[in-house]
Amino acid sequence: PARRILGVEKNIWLEFTEMAAKYKSVDLGQGFPNFSPPDFVRQAFSDVVSGEDCLMHQYTRAFGHPTLVKILAKLYGQLLGQSIDPFGDILVTVGAYEALFTAFQALVDEGDEVIIIEPFFDCYEPMVKMAGGHCVFVPLRPKGTPDKPALSSGEWALDPDELASKFTERTKAIVLNTPHNPLGKVFKREELQVIAELCVKHDVLCISDEVYEWIVFDGNEHIKIASLPGMWAQTVTIGSAGKTFSATGWKVGWAIGPHRILKHLQTVHQNSVYHTATAAQEAVARGFQRELDVLGRPESYLFQLPRQLQEKRNRLVECLLSVGMRPIIPEGGYFLIVDISALNVELPEPADEEEPYDYRFAKWLIKTKGMATIPVSAFYSLGHRKDFASYIRLCYVKEDSTLEAAEKILKEWH
Ligand code: PMP
Ligand code: GLN
Repeated sequence: PARRILGVEKNIWLEFTEMAAKYKSVDLGQGFPNFSPPDFVRQAFSDVVSGEDCLMHQYTRAFGHPTLVKILAKLYGQLLGQSIDPFGDILVTVGAYEALFTAFQALVDEGDEVIIIEPFFDCYEPMVKMAGGHCVFVPLRPKGTPDKPALSSGEWALDPDELASKFTERTKAIVLNTPHNPLGKVFKREELQVIAELCVKHDVLCISDEVYEWIVFDGNEHIKIASLPGMWAQTVTIGSAGKTFSATGWKVGWAIGPHRILKHLQTVHQNSVYHTATAAQEAVARGFQRELDVLGRPESYLFQLPRQLQEKRNRLVECLLSVGMRPIIPEGGYFLIVDISALNVELPEPADEEEPYDYRFAKWLIKTKGMATIPVSAFYSLGHRKDFASYIRLCYVKEDSTLEAAEKILKEWH
C-alpha cells in the first residue's frame, strides 16, 4: 500500500454497521433516517428518471448540474448575505464526504497543520493525514462538576486561550462542525466570533461542515461562520442533501466559497470523481426550488424537519432519564451522547486490552441487548481515546416504532 493510507485502515462505520446487521439489533447507531424523504423530492426523483429528457441519464457539468448550482447560489446567497456565482463559487460533490475530501486534498500541503475540535466526525483525521497534513486537536470540554454535571451540549465549550494557543505559523485550516456530530452542539455567535477572529488574524482557512444546518432545536439558531465579518473570503461551507432532505443514500453534497479557493477543490474533483449522478442532482434542485417558494412557512419541509426531530429527541431523552441514564441534551443534529460510567455494567474480559471501555460497552449492548449505538471515543484522536471512553452516541432520527423498541430494551434491562 501507499504510505499515505497507513494508519487509516480502521473505520467505525464498517465495524459497527456490520455488527448491527449481524445481530439484527434495534439500530440507533449509524446516522440515517429509517423513514422516507418527503413526497415532493421522491416524486421529483421519480419524474426525472421516468421523464422524456434522455439527458438526465447522461453526464452533466463537472462542477455541478446547472439547475442545482443555480438554486444553491440563490438559497445560500440569501442565507449568507453574499452574492454567489453559481459557476465559480460552488462545487457539487458525492455527499459532504467528497466535499471534505476535496477540500483537504486541494488546500492542505505536506507538513501543514489543521486544527480539529474534539470530539469530531471521524473522517476529518484520516482525510487530513492522507493529504500529508498534521492534525492539531483542541477539546470541547464539559462545564460543571461531578455533583452538577453538564446536561446540555451547549455546556461543552472551547477554552478561547487554549484555542488561540493552537494557531501557529504552520496552521493552514481549522475544521468547524455545527450543528455538531456527535454532541449536538450548535455554536453560538460569540463562540464563532472567537474562531473567526483567530482565522482572520492568522490568515487561516475555515472548513465549516454544516450538514445538519436545518436541524436545530429549542429556538436555537444556526449561524454560518462564512457570514461573519471577513469570513466569506476564507471559509469553505459544506452541506448535504442527504441530511437536508432525509435522503442520505442519494449522496449529493456541496462546497461553497470564493472562487479563489473553490477553484482548487474543482481541480481535485475534475481529476478524480468528475461529477455526481445527474438525476439525483436534478431531483435535489427541484426539492430546493419547492422549498425556496415556501421557506419559513409551516408547509416547508425544512421548517417541519427540526420540529419532528425535536419530538424524537425529547422522547429518547425522557426514556433515558426514566431509566436513570444521563444524556447530554443536544441543541441540534441527529445524535445525543449519554454517560455510561454510572451504570457499572460488568463487561466480559476484553479480547484486546487496548480496546476502550465504550467500544466494549457498545459491543456488549448489541450482542446481549440487541441495541446498536456508537462508542464516542471513536470521535477522538487515538491519543485521547482512553480519556473519553465513558459515553455512547445514539441516533434518534428513527421511526417511532424503532424508538419504541429501544425504549422497551432500556426499560426491561433496568
Ligand atoms: N459531516 C458530518 C458531520 C456527518 O455527520 C456526515 C455523515 N452524515 C457527513 C459529513 C457526510 O455527509 P454525506 O452523507 O453527505 O456524505
Ligand atoms: N455521518 C453518519 C454518522 O455519523 C454516518 C457516516 C457513515 O456511515 N460513514 O453516523
